[in-house]
Amino acid sequence: MSALRLRSLTLSLAAVLVALLCATTLNARSSYEFRRADSATRQTCAALKKQLPFGRVTSQGLGPDYLLSVQIYYNQLQAKNFPACVVYPSSSSDVQTAIKAIKANNVQFAVKAGGHQFNNGWSSVDQGILIDFSRMTRKTYDAASQTGFYEPGNRWRDIYGYYAKWNVVPVGGRLGGVGTGLALGGGLSYLSAQYGLACDGFVQLDVVLADGSLVAARADNEYADLFKALKGGGNRFGVVTGYHVKLRPTGTFYSGVLIYEEKHFADVVKATVDFNENNQDPKAAIITTVDSIEVGGLLFGLGKLIILFNVYDGANPGSVFKAFEDIPHVADTRTPGSYFKAAQMLDVGTLSTGAYTSRVARYRPGSTKELDLLKNFQAWYAAHKGEYILATVDYQPVAQGTIAAGRAAGGNALDMKDGPHIWVNLLLAFDPNLPAAKQQALIESWKALEQSVPSDEDVVIFMNDAGDQPILQSYGTYPQLQATSRKYDPDQLFIKNQQGPQFSV
Ligand SMILES: Cc1cc2nc3c(=O)[nH]c(=O)nc-3n(C[C@H](O)[C@H](O)[C@H](O)COP(=O)(O)OP(=O)(O)OC[C@H]3O[C@@H](n4cnc5c(N)ncnc54)[C@H](O)[C@@H]3O)c2cc1C
Repeated sequence: MSALRLRSLTLSLAAVLVALLCATTLNARSSYEFRRADSATRQTCAALKKQLPFGRVTSQGLGPDYLLSVQIYYNQLQAKNFPACVVYPSSSSDVQTAIKAIKANNVQFAVKAGGHQFNNGWSSVDQGILIDFSRMTRKTYDAASQTGFYEPGNRWRDIYGYYAKWNVVPVGGRLGGVGTGLALGGGLSYLSAQYGLACDGFVQLDVVLADGSLVAARADNEYADLFKALKGGGNRFGVVTGYHVKLRPTGTFYSGVLIYEEKHFADVVKATVDFNENNQDPKAAIITTVDSIEVGGLLFGLGKLIILFNVYDGANPGSVFKAFEDIPHVADTRTPGSYFKAAQMLDVGTLSTGAYTSRVARYRPGSTKELDLLKNFQAWYAAHKGEYILATVDYQPVAQGTIAAGRAAGGNALDMKDGPHIWVNLLLAFDPNLPAAKQQALIESWKALEQSVPSDEDVVIFMNDAGDQPILQSYGTYPQLQATSRKYDPDQLFIKNQQGPQFSV
């Protein structure tokens, strides 16, 4: 590597690190704005304290458990919501008790697993009741059926680490710090082109319904409709207390990143479009993240880079990434290693990196939309210098193999039309302490960027990266989802008493 390249690399990586450090500093909390909940919620908390074993319910206050629950969120706007109490279930039965009380008193609640949802309020609640799964982390392995069981409080790194000794993994998140809610939103993985989305690996879900009953939902039993709805339907149908999933073999994975300077952005995006349209090897996966790091203008000019994630299921990827290798890059960290290592790449997933707004664009092959969006993004960041922390536009190819594997596994709630297509995640991080009007202006300009290149409407919206967009409405099974909700949740507890993707029945 030349001295010039080394210098560029050092600057690029320094930019990322400084941005993250500054972001963390920006978020240092000076006060907690507790607000008193209504009497129904306070009474529900008091009743749950009596009904559940000691220590499973924590009231609003400065106790360490409570503060961890309210602070550990990826989107720091979620960390500004203060529940009246937090319930820490250790079993399905505890969740049943909580849901029965919440329903009986008709109070607001939220369910939190890994806390990585971008949308404020989807896994946090102000003055309501938070069900925090952090104490439900059991996992088991069944060698005979090549299936596993994990509870919702695990993060993917815990799950991959646990199954590593048997050289198997469930299909799950690409960054280990993310939580299991990912699978309920579909779940895009490095393994998806081979085995489908994370939800396509479900064999059985243990679910607490709105009336507090516990059911085992499977494709081959009376709860098949509920089972399918939960394969991508998010938090709208029940609270999942256990995931029984297929396990997939793992060996050596070739993984790492290539880093590019701004002058090569268009070439890398073109290569990404070409990969999406022509790659025939389902073992190869990429994410092309076009990043602009600002931090109040401190890094002006230094923080523009593409970080391209390459993962190959095998020690030698051959020429599958050649088009990317041929474009001049300032760093190449790719080496053979374990799947666990691949899932730890640049995993800043548990750090506080600011307030977020997120959008999804979706494009089919055969247009210039990906490049048009890149140009508009470059114009956007030129116009918004110093106003944000990190702006990133991430191109995520979805292979036909992903869609076909989902169908072969019995279908999912998304019911995607034939592919391939690209899901583009537009993610903007900003200082959570900005005045509300400035936040709103940034959020609106980010939405306008997403809408500046019209998405192909027949491609479903990816819940895990979406903002306030009509996600479930874009699914092929929307009428069935409405019927399923009416059947299992006639009073709409999971729609009216908690936040989540737009849904009306
Ligand atoms: C750094 C980072 C990397 C990411 N990488 C990927 C990726 O590789 N692939 C991908 O598909 N997405 C990815 N995402 C998006 C991620 O999948 C979503 O943010 C997802 O919602 C996170 O799940 P969680 O458990 O961490 O979050 P939470 O905020 O705890 O939960 C997410 C949602 O699921 C609901 N929920 C959680 N558990 C349950 C349950 N047991 N029962 C009912 N509802 C429940 C919550 O109410 C909430 O609406 C990433 C996000 C980040 C921040």
